[in-house]
Amino acid sequence: MHYLDNAATTKVSSEVADTIYEVMKTHFANPSSLYNIGMYAEQVIETARAQVAASLGCKPEELYFTGCGTESNNIAIQGAVTARKAWGKSIVCTGFEHPAVYKQLDRYAKEGYNVTFIAPDANGHIDEEAIVATVEKDTCLATFMHVNNEIGTVLQVADIAKKIKAKNNRTAVHVDGVQAWGKTFIQLNKTDIDSYSISGHKVHVPKGIGALYLRKGFHIEPPFLGGGQERGIRPGTENIPYIAGLGKAAELLYDGQTAYVNDTHVKILHKALMDGLAQMENVVINSPKEATPYVVNFSMLGIRSENLLHFLEAKEIFVSSGSACSKGAASHTLLAMKLPDERIDGAVRVSFCAESTLEDVQALLQGLQDANKELAKVRK
Ligand code: PLP
Repeated sequence: MHYLDNAATTKVSSEVADTIYEVMKTHFANPSSLYNIGMYAEQVIETARAQVAASLGCKPEELYFTGCGTESNNIAIQGAVTARKAWGKSIVCTGFEHPAVYKQLDRYAKEGYNVTFIAPDANGHIDEEAIVATVEKDTCLATFMHVNNEIGTVLQVADIAKKIKAKNNRTAVHVDGVQAWGKTFIQLNKTDIDSYSISGHKVHVPKGIGALYLRKGFHIEPPFLGGGQERGIRPGTENIPYIAGLGKAAELLYDGQTAYVNDTHVKILHKALMDGLAQMENVVINSPKEATPYVVNFSMLGIRSENLLHFLEAKEIFVSSGSACSKGAASHTLLAMKLPDERIDGAVRVSFCAESTLEDVQALLQGLQDANKELAKVRK
């Protein structure tokens, strides 16, 4: 099997699975209970909090466990907007956010907020200065992703946050870091970012666990009400095994405090894929040149991506036609880039993880060449 859809989700690593299984068997007590086995369960959570915080360059008390990246984005965005409703009237974001962000902003626009979406250009770049220029006195929120999930654009999030704060230090700055965590190095405490979302299943942890960084002193009104877990930011009895799994992943990805991301291997795969694609006449690359090496988006002109996907699937090669959340709908990002229909219809996303191999890339390139011959019959 050649699984090349790691931006959709990843296979759980055996170290993470072992950690989860151990914790599941041992620490069943409720971490809010006052007796000792409850306290041991709480210690598991605090160990994981310290591990994840180290990977993000923040303090453990600035980190809150959540159910997923979507939930982190919802808590941060709704929490920030509600807390600033007395004066906030405007919001700015990019035009290629994940639905976990842009659907909330669409709703704020319907409620009367002045929401500005800064669209990517045809090369997949965002004009970062335009985000800053849009910030006004009444801008309660600026939200933008660190790494785009569909084409891999990397935003200079620390830089943008700094410029926004210089213009209006009351504007909440949220970053969706779901596709960046484990693949990009960031030290949040050295930035002006107020909140940052991550998700476990993009980095070899099961689905259903995420985390949210909230800078110390940054005020939000939590959208969920309940018990005092996660200091009221995300109430609900904690998923201790998965929290421990997220902590383990942080340790594996970032080697503890010496936060460093080794992407040398993925860069080699990326180059091999790009070199192979360059040999194919009907391939156009949709990812920007400086994109993360983990994501390559391209179009095979004349072949519908859905047909290509199933053709490759028969050879046990798994890629995506856009983001997993879009279920085959035209890519939100490529539409925002205003690409011609033919490129949108033929778009394919390949996404690597550290375990991807050169054999995977070779199998894919061979599969694409075969598709070019065999799918010619079903070309539009
Ligand atoms: N943000 C981005 C950029 C994503 O790619 C995803 C998942 O695809 C999410 C948010 C949502 O994360 P989750 O699936 O953990 O809810």
